[in-house]
Amino acid sequence: MSVATQQRSAAVTVLVPILGDQLSHAIASLRNRSRSDTVVLMMEVADEARYVRHHKQKIIFILAAMRHFAAELAAAGWTVDYIRLDDADNSGSFAGELTRAVARHRPHAIAMVEPGEWRVRQAIDAWRARFDGSMDILEDDRFLCSISEFRRWAGQRSTLVMEYFYRDMRRKTGLLMTPDGAPVGGQWNLDDQNRAPPKKGQTYPAPLRFAPDAVTQEVIALVEDRFPDHFGNTATFALPVTARQAQQALAHFIDQALPHFGTFQDAMVAGEDLLFHSWLSPALNIGLLTAGEATAAVAAAYEAGKAPLNAAEGFVRQLIGWREYVRGYYWLEMPGVADANALGAERPLPEFFWTGETDMFCLAEAVRNTRDNAYAHHIQRLMVLGNFAMLAGVRPQDVGDWFLTVYADAFEWVELPNVLGMSQYADGGRLGTKPYAGGGAYINRMSNYCGHCSYDVKAKTGPQACPFNALYWDFLARHEDRFRSNRRMANMYANWDRMGPDKQQAYRKSAAAFLAGLIAAAPGWVRA
Ligand SMILES: Cc1cc2nc3c(=O)[nH]c(=O)nc-3n(C[C@H](O)[C@H](O)[C@H](O)COP(=O)(O)OP(=O)(O)OC[C@H]3O[C@@H](n4cnc5c(N)ncnc54)[C@H](O)[C@@H]3O)c2cc1C
Ligand code: SF4
Repeated sequence: MSVATQQRSAAVTVLVPILGDQLSHAIASLRNRSRSDTVVLMMEVADEARYVRHHKQKIIFILAAMRHFAAELAAAGWTVDYIRLDDADNSGSFAGELTRAVARHRPHAIAMVEPGEWRVRQAIDAWRARFDGSMDILEDDRFLCSISEFRRWAGQRSTLVMEYFYRDMRRKTGLLMTPDGAPVGGQWNLDDQNRAPPKKGQTYPAPLRFAPDAVTQEVIALVEDRFPDHFGNTATFALPVTARQAQQALAHFIDQALPHFGTFQDAMVAGEDLLFHSWLSPALNIGLLTAGEATAAVAAAYEAGKAPLNAAEGFVRQLIGWREYVRGYYWLEMPGVADANALGAERPLPEFFWTGETDMFCLAEAVRNTRDNAYAHHIQRLMVLGNFAMLAGVRPQDVGDWFLTVYADAFEWVELPNVLGMSQYADGGRLGTKPYAGGGAYINRMSNYCGHCSYDVKAKTGPQACPFNALYWDFLARHEDRFRSNRRMANMYANWDRMGPDKQQAYRKSAAAFLAGLIAAAPGWVRA
């Protein structure tokens, strides 16, 4: 391959390992460092590709981006020691490769940026404890809020309300702020303008798809060869794998989609995989693009009159609000939160999450998007897939394994809070004050899915009724002790009470009949 692999011995002083989600040229471990006494170490290790059986496109994405990044570093004059997955002596783990690299280069020091995930941090810390040289672990300053800053913010709060965190981040970054410190437009949050259902006759921009070049094609062949039975199509791979492509994707989004992003943020349309979403999360999460770059470009588009405020504010909120917030939450709550199961959900994940074989059109459509693109947009994840799993009482750790496996943007620091906290209420309300639960009426209002479905969304009970309807009321009934006193759910329980016992029983019987027919997925889908 085109990566310079050069062995140095006594002259080398610092070894800089760069992980697969640290592909930023401005990464802290390279900043102010001399090219003449540095060896960059990049490692493709089987442990990372296999700890869950990732979607094939996720593995392709990360390995292809790593190989492109290494080539760019080498072209910029860095010495790169690149370990390929198929190298004969590859030990298959970070610890093994660090040990081999130390033997090769005999560095007097190692410097790396903190890993993004708990599991990797544990492995690196354990290795560092055995290493008899100096090893610096640097803060990942691609995030706008450090782990310690979030910890201070969280302090003794009993619930971590994202809105307050977000306002602090707006003040800190100055994004969409007036010179005297007020939010542009007078309101902090325009979420109430982000909920329009899809409009008849609305057209959607074509996503920018990147054709795989020779480097990526080589990785696709490798993945087909090494991981043939992992979930997902490879023929549809189209993700950006370089910083340049990520910038093109950002520009395409701002030009084509941003003007409508805010208004239709929660809409869903059959056959439209993106609507007006950016599809930038994979590139953001491995560092091809930073949140600072993306939000500055979006704010500039607003200031230039190219996008309305509800779009720019909505996008900025997702990135400097939710994205930073879930990362802080992850490091605050780990490792305990990984086992959280406040609702005592124990049902195994249904098989159709993998096969897509279900008569529920909304779910089949979300699984299709996931299989084809290693992607589903937020409302598909939250109000279709996640909502179904929570209503059906699926074990949150099974749900989390699925989400971690199937999305190209799934790294545990962002996946776990979204799944266990936001979508499954497994943390008992630490992240959100009420569960994101909805029946068929919500999906029908926000999509055109129900018109394609063999179930009847208007029917409440019985075999032809939309399963979300009975599951929704059954969920509220099962968890009445926990939720009845929640003021944000008072209306729902008032409606439940008005039904009377016969109707309530009919809902519960319908839900039980549906749940009894679910086929559980075999564990082999996630781990061999
Ligand atoms: C159950 C569930 C699981 C999720 N798992 C992941 C995951 O593994 N990785 C991931 O990056 N996001 C995850 N999300 C958040 C969100 O759904 C995705 O970031 C988004 O769908 C990515 O698509 P996009 O780039 O088109 O986003 P857009 O709608 O265009 O939003 C712009 C950006 O905002 C950020 N963002 C938006 N919402 C969130 C959020 N809730 N948390 C963090 N960042 C956010 C993303 O970086 C995204 O690229 C999950 C959400 C849910 C409900
Ligand atoms: S009828 Fe129910 S199951 Fe079918 S698409 Fe609508 S919400 Fe989904």
